[in-house]
Amino acid sequence: MRRWNGWGDEATVVELPAHGAAFLEGLVGAGQRLPDASLQQVLAQVPESRLGSHALISVDAEVRVRHARGQSLPDWLAMRSGEFGVFPDGVALPETPAQIRELLAWAREQDVIVIPYGGGTSVAGHINPVESAKPVLTLSLERMTQLVDLDEQSQIATFGPGANGPQVEAQLRARGYTLGHFPQSWELSTLGGWVASRSSGQQSLRYGRIEQLFAGGKVETFAGTLEIPTFPASAAGPDLRELILGSEGRFGVISEVRVRVTKLAEQEHFYSVFLPSWQQAQAGVRALVQARIPLSMLRLSNAIETETQLALAGHPEQIALLEKYLALRGARAGKCMLTFGVTGNRGQNTLSVKQAKKLLKGFGGVFTGTLLGKKWAENRFRFPYLRHGLWEAGYAVDTLETATDWNNVDNLLNKVEASLRQGLADEGERVHVFTHLSHVYGQGSSIYTTYVFRPGDSYAVTQARWAKLKHAACQTIAGNRGTISHQHGVGRDHAPYLAAEKGELGMAALKAMAQHFDPESRLAPGVLLED
Ligand SMILES: Cc1cc2nc3c(=O)[nH]c(=O)nc-3n(C[C@H](O)[C@H](O)[C@H](O)COP(=O)(O)OP(=O)(O)OC[C@H]3O[C@@H](n4cnc5c(N)ncnc54)[C@H](O)[C@@H]3O)c2cc1C
Repeated sequence: MRRWNGWGDEATVVELPAHGAAFLEGLVGAGQRLPDASLQQVLAQVPESRLGSHALISVDAEVRVRHARGQSLPDWLAMRSGEFGVFPDGVALPETPAQIRELLAWAREQDVIVIPYGGGTSVAGHINPVESAKPVLTLSLERMTQLVDLDEQSQIATFGPGANGPQVEAQLRARGYTLGHFPQSWELSTLGGWVASRSSGQQSLRYGRIEQLFAGGKVETFAGTLEIPTFPASAAGPDLRELILGSEGRFGVISEVRVRVTKLAEQEHFYSVFLPSWQQAQAGVRALVQARIPLSMLRLSNAIETETQLALAGHPEQIALLEKYLALRGARAGKCMLTFGVTGNRGQNTLSVKQAKKLLKGFGGVFTGTLLGKKWAENRFRFPYLRHGLWEAGYAVDTLETATDWNNVDNLLNKVEASLRQGLADEGERVHVFTHLSHVYGQGSSIYTTYVFRPGDSYAVTQARWAKLKHAACQTIAGNRGTISHQHGVGRDHAPYLAAEKGELGMAALKAMAQHFDPESRLAPGVLLED
């Protein structure tokens, strides 16, 4: 069963290894564990629903609790402390596009706010209800998960918007296809959510971001149904798909998603290479991508992330042997780990690996084969569970991400890391900060930073620490040519920084669009655009 106050399935537990705990203690101090509220304590706080009755809406207290928060760190703090503040008044569970239309009509008639909800994996405050004089209805797409059609000639699949990663892949794989979209939240996040928040999967290098995969579909709005037909390409004016990509529930509810799919590849392998320094590593990755060597994923950890990953991996004896081997070949302190993947047929893959190895050798790369890459692939969806292990050990962890052109990657990365590292200095607290580049483009790269800090002696102090760190990093991003989000979206948490990249006229255009589709501002108010 899905956890009500954290990530994923209750049966999956990933603990912080003893070696990892000692490593963190040395960096930020001994962990501080805050007490958790129980589900019963939270259920006791859920107020009477203000909604009238409707056959498709549940007002059950537990259903409301389970749809009240996403997965950001402040969401975690709310769930763990039991201080949710606001709950949705009910959760609608439609099964067809017609039922979504019916629910929207009902919401207008009853003067209700509507929050579209996919998998609830938002890390930017997208799906949290806020205090409102009007009742709040969360509209969950979790019953609309079917593969409706697969056009094998055009390689386009039509899905219900609520299909999550495993549901999408299982239905496609049964027919010999894949979508190839694997965000780290894959277990729980959904097609509709990916489109609405412009998601990016770990193998975007081969399959593309959701922008490239999303071919068309249907959106139910307060102004009617918007149908977006599929074309391989079109010069017929602005592309309406772009209106929906990143719309974050503000313009309408996506009721059908058409995606471009690919035949399953013959084989796939992941390799690791260690590069002696960040400068060599970054230049190597840039050269790989700019040479257009057909790889399916790249993930380059900076030196601190490399050290942290090796420490948290457990197995200290094996890691010591690896370190010895690397040192003999010139990758010592300051080394950076690169994982890359190849996906395709045997001949193509062999050639790509050969080209990548040759190129990386020129940057001092030490190739260590497929063992670490295999581990990465096996554990890629288990990493989010480690948040529990860290929390149990008394540490709070959060991530943030941006993207910028290559000529600014170092500048932005260093400034973001510094803003976080120094962020709690006034409280005498240290913050452990590390970064990787995981979505690389010819023009530039995403920058994905993780930070670990100690909770304070209360939830309020911990929340204040997070707010301070988050604000410092967001200001740094907005002030240094970074986008406020490469893949997590805007939500409520990033909305105050959006104008820095869209400009006054751009913001006015987005607001006019929201007004056009939702003239009474019923859909997800405050998300994407501050109201
Ligand atoms: C551990 C973890 C790892 C993550 N890793 C990644 C990653 O690798 N890449 C990445 O891109 N993101 C990642 N995320 C962020 C998150 O998973 C994505 O933003 C994802 O796209 C959200 O999908 P969802 O279905 O959970 O949407 P939700 O969180 O339910 O909703 C997100 C937004 O989309 C809107 N929405 C959802 N469904 C619809 C619909 N049918 N119609 C209209 N609007 C809708 C909601 O109103 C909301 O504004 C991660 C999150 C976590 C917690």
